[in-house]
Amino acid sequence: MQITVLYFVDVILPLPLGRNYTYSISEAEYRFIKPGIRVVVPFGKSKYYTAIVQEKHSNPPIIYEAKPIVQILDQSPVVTSKQLSFWQWIASYYACSLGEVVKAALPSSYLLESTTLVQLSSNLILDDLQFTDDEFLVVEALKQKSPLRVEEVRQILDKKDALKPLKNLINSKVISLAHEVFDKYQPKLIRCIRLTDNFKTTSSLEDISVKLSRSPKQRAVVLAYFALQSKGNNPISVKDLKLKSQASSTQIKQLIDKLIFEEYYHQVNRINQELFAHNPNLILSAAQAKALDEIKNVFLTQSTCLLHGVTSSGKTEIYIKLIEETIAVGKQILFLVPEIALTTQLLDRLKLYFENKVVVYHSRYSQNERHEIWQLMLNDSERGQIVLGARSALMLPFKNLGLVIIDESHELSYKQFDPAPRYHARDAALVLAAKFNAKTLLGSATPSVESYYNAKTLKKFGYVNLGVRYGNVLPPEIELVDLKKAYKRKQMRGHFSHRLLSEIESALNDNLQIILFQNRRGYAPVVSCNSCGHSPNCPNCDVSLTYHRFQKQLRCHYCSYTMAMQNNCQACGSPGLDAVGFGTEQIQEEIKQFFPNARVSRMDYDTTKGKRSFETLINAFQQQEIDILVGTQMLTKGLDFRKVKLVGVLNADQLINFPDFRAQERSFQMLQQVAGRSGRTADQGKVIIQTFNPYHSIFQQVSTNDYQTMFKEQLDQRHAYKYPPFYRLIKLTLRHSDYAKVNAASEWVAKSLRAVFGEYVLGPEFPSIPRIRNKYNKNILLKIPNGQSVKKTKEVIIKIKNTFLNIGEFRTIRVVINVDSY
Ligand code: ADP
Ligand code: ZN
Ligand code: ZN
Repeated sequence: MQITVLYFVDVILPLPLGRNYTYSISEAEYRFIKPGIRVVVPFGKSKYYTAIVQEKHSNPPIIYEAKPIVQILDQSPVVTSKQLSFWQWIASYYACSLGEVVKAALPSSYLLESTTLVQLSSNLILDDLQFTDDEFLVVEALKQKSPLRVEEVRQILDKKDALKPLKNLINSKVISLAHEVFDKYQPKLIRCIRLTDNFKTTSSLEDISVKLSRSPKQRAVVLAYFALQSKGNNPISVKDLKLKSQASSTQIKQLIDKLIFEEYYHQVNRINQELFAHNPNLILSAAQAKALDEIKNVFLTQSTCLLHGVTSSGKTEIYIKLIEETIAVGKQILFLVPEIALTTQLLDRLKLYFENKVVVYHSRYSQNERHEIWQLMLNDSERGQIVLGARSALMLPFKNLGLVIIDESHELSYKQFDPAPRYHARDAALVLAAKFNAKTLLGSATPSVESYYNAKTLKKFGYVNLGVRYGNVLPPEIELVDLKKAYKRKQMRGHFSHRLLSEIESALNDNLQIILFQNRRGYAPVVSCNSCGHSPNCPNCDVSLTYHRFQKQLRCHYCSYTMAMQNNCQACGSPGLDAVGFGTEQIQEEIKQFFPNARVSRMDYDTTKGKRSFETLINAFQQQEIDILVGTQMLTKGLDFRKVKLVGVLNADQLINFPDFRAQERSFQMLQQVAGRSGRTADQGKVIIQTFNPYHSIFQQVSTNDYQTMFKEQLDQRHAYKYPPFYRLIKLTLRHSDYAKVNAASEWVAKSLRAVFGEYVLGPEFPSIPRIRNKYNKNILLKIPNGQSVKKTKEVIIKIKNTFLNIGEFRTIRVVINVDSY
């Protein structure tokens, strides 16, 4: 009797499936295939997917007959075994499918499926390229019609599978995924003006005066030029000169025609180069050097260290030293930041030291750019030895990771909320680092309660403190302004106390910059009828619409529903609609009225939607083209501005009034961080916080820089109310458009959970905004005491979820599991 050996692969499909699928392969394929190689497989009704091989073996599946794979896509793995085991951890810890992790981790150009759109790359020169017949056909077809769906390409080729030629064309950059515009870095040029050689000497002022004796206007322009110059402004932009002298373009042109001025273009980098350019040999201050030594000492015995360094203490420089040493031993560095926006400033700083060893990786990069970096990493190339990125950079194929830096490690944006995997990048990074025996440095001026507890109480992490600002600049002086008193004593103008206004005025007079912080965008969060009290609400969500005055619109910040601002109340028809509360737009308008000569800009979600708009704003602020920047929490994070003297917080109370166990900690962090934007150079900065509750302990702790007391108080509260770090939280959210269904379903789930976990189940409860985009959400919170197995707990939850989804009436309800939720 002949024994036939069968060969199989288990593959991960990039889909939210509860398990892997098994396909059959030939013996030759068996010999060739390795885990991490991509294969094309049929799945569902005549659909083809790119899947990742997880394992090969000879055990036929029991309940179904394995279909054969269509084809192998790679010569060698595009996913490493470390990645596979890391992703497995993510899937199991954060209770999602491995397919969801794969889908989130790999650039979609690696995961072509039938509905993907492809197009010819722009700026393509096809002459020298050698194509196979299939590739040639694809290119010709795309010349006729672009983009095409993979399915259409398949029909054109008349082959079961079109993914292989497409893969090759993507790798050689002939085609790319559609709907992505390649976005090249463009240096920024500023139009500047200078005296011509004829008039460069100091005595030339007189010559010019004589020459211009009959044109007083033009003379005024030249005087303004000298005034700017004497203040140390160099180069002098046309814009500044116009502003200072109130001159018209014509007057400036006349001066150019008279050969007094000449025009030129000055190239500025996104960051003020000169500040760093002279500094390639970084010399640490004594305090920094000591901190660096202490960190290295920690790393002798521990793998994780918390660097608690006040704002502007020069943490980045310490990172740079550690990166240097890691590079010297030939290992890779992952540098994580909480927001994509922060990569810009840091990239410029890191490039000065490490040139093109640094690459940036995050989800807003085009698929092509991400594909390219993935390839670099697979080749373990020198370019890409340092990866700077937001949380998704954790997913890259590192070969030889030596150091992970998590900057601003307290930031909540490290946690992904939607879609799965809902992972916390800080926590996942520690797991990744452990796989490589790499060191991890958590940096923050305001560490999270959890990290500080891990370091100081549990001693799980080493701890290093850096308590002085670089250059021994004094920490900003923080003053609380009591709004209750100010209103009573009529010391208010609009939303500004006289205190704040006088500080703004004096900073403007000194040619210094000001940041105004208001954590709400729009003009007013609510408008309400002054006859009947009616407020227009979003038809899709349970929130009132925010008034955006400039666009004359009412907008929902949850589903982007908009309607024109109404003249009359929709309920009673009367004409008086009042704005209640205030957002950044209103603050910007008020401040413009109070200081008509100041240049005011706004930085919030509305003004930074464009691809480069964030960068442009930062740049303009850095170049002092803006005097006052009004913004939301976007401003608080890690940005290094040089000439900010004053930070004003318009209403701090809004921050603490959140029904969230982290609200107070977060308020402390936000206020300390925004305060830290001021006075980063020689002069001590000033911070004015307006509040109705100046005696609230959080505001007292902020104003005295008292992290320890904040920590102790918060920790006590966390203990008393059973929150992290003493309990872990898992939140289940049930979602459906039918209100009654959500209620019934969440009662069912809560009851089942309670049968197992008893008092540790809270809810179900509607969140503060129950309905978003016409879907109702209801939450159930599960608290897991220390000592209870998290793994077992999750197994129970998943079992209950599966039973639940098998109940007919509940089948359409979405259940979201969020592990370590906030
Ligand atoms: P942090 O990240 O701790 O807020 P930064 O690293 O941004 O602080 O440093 C604050 C400022 O001080 C930056 O402008 C930085 O260039 C400067 N600085 C810090 N350390 C040094 C140093 N050793 N040499 C020169 N400049 C430094
Ligand atoms: Zn009304
Ligand atoms: Zn809405």
